[in-house]
Amino acid sequence: MTQTALSLIHTDQPKKWQEILSDLITDPKELVQVLQLDLALKPASLAAMEQFPLKVTRPFVAAIEPGNWQDPLLLQIWPSQAEEAVITGFVADPLLESDANPVPGLLHKYHGRVLLTAVPHCAIHCRYCFRRHFDYASNTPSRQQWQQALDYIADDNGIEEVILSGGDPLAASDRQLAWLLSQLEQIQHVATVRIHSRMPIVLPQRLTPVLRDLLENSRFRCVLVLHCNHAREISALVRSFLSKIDTNAVTLLNQSVLLADINDNSKILEELSRTLFSLNVLPYYLHLPDKVAGTAHFYVSRKEALKLMEELENRLPGYLVPKLVVEEPGKAAKTRVR
Ligand SMILES: *Cc1c(COP(=O)(O)O)cnc(C)c1O
Ligand code: SF4
Repeated sequence: MTQTALSLIHTDQPKKWQEILSDLITDPKELVQVLQLDLALKPASLAAMEQFPLKVTRPFVAAIEPGNWQDPLLLQIWPSQAEEAVITGFVADPLLESDANPVPGLLHKYHGRVLLTAVPHCAIHCRYCFRRHFDYASNTPSRQQWQQALDYIADDNGIEEVILSGGDPLAASDRQLAWLLSQLEQIQHVATVRIHSRMPIVLPQRLTPVLRDLLENSRFRCVLVLHCNHAREISALVRSFLSKIDTNAVTLLNQSVLLADINDNSKILEELSRTLFSLNVLPYYLHLPDKVAGTAHFYVSRKEALKLMEELENRLPGYLVPKLVVEEPGKAAKTRVR
């Protein structure tokens, strides 16, 4: 084969997810250029970026409408000057998670379930994130600390479900996940492994055949909870990868955060539920945003949220209506808002 033919084949190869992950957009100037936006209309906040840098995958950017500062996907990632506002009641650690951290990288707040903050980073930085102030550095388990977390789980046979969260657990490699699952498989009382990830939405190529195989063929009931806030996030690319998951073997759910100007509208939420269902994904939770410092401009009041829920309930079958919840420190479960 000639060199040209070879390189043609090479460029036709779909990019590996690791390559996409190492080629994120982190410079606001590049983002506005790609999206043909006028930076003068909405300057990026340096203070916000210093605290929580701009970070977004190219597949997610490809789903943003060029030239539109109001795009609901763009609003989730743009470090705006609104983040600089200091608002009473919005604090760094509203969930007091630092209190429920028995070993590094493990949170045990709810009956029968532990949450592993398995991987400290994400492929994207969502501006509303309640973990934006989280001290990941001291919560990045080394192999040895993983062993501590595994021992903790093995020692408590009341733990039936292990939740891999983050950061984003799917930022870990297939090999690391395979290792972790095989360790968990040896703990007899663990029946369910749940993965909470935004990766299938922001970097769908992450759903590799190896990963699908891991989830579909482990001894666990595997649950994959997507984090999708708007139907527009479900691009043709996302659809093509998600539809490959064998939903007889893996339960697909979605959780969203209710965000002002992004999805605080019953038509948008209805469309999200219907779009998810077309991919065998059921809505699970709709979270009221946590009162995290720098995110007040995303906040939706309980009153407004309840009005939206009523509209949703009047338009959708019950199974397509997510549960409206809020996380409150010290509670035995997420709190239903009704
Ligand atoms: C949200 C959360 C869970 C899972 O709660 P579910 O209601 O089962 O989805 C478990 N542990 C922690 C620490 C959590 O924050
Ligand atoms: S992917 Fe999840 S954990 Fe990561 S920044 Fe977004 S909301 Fe936060």
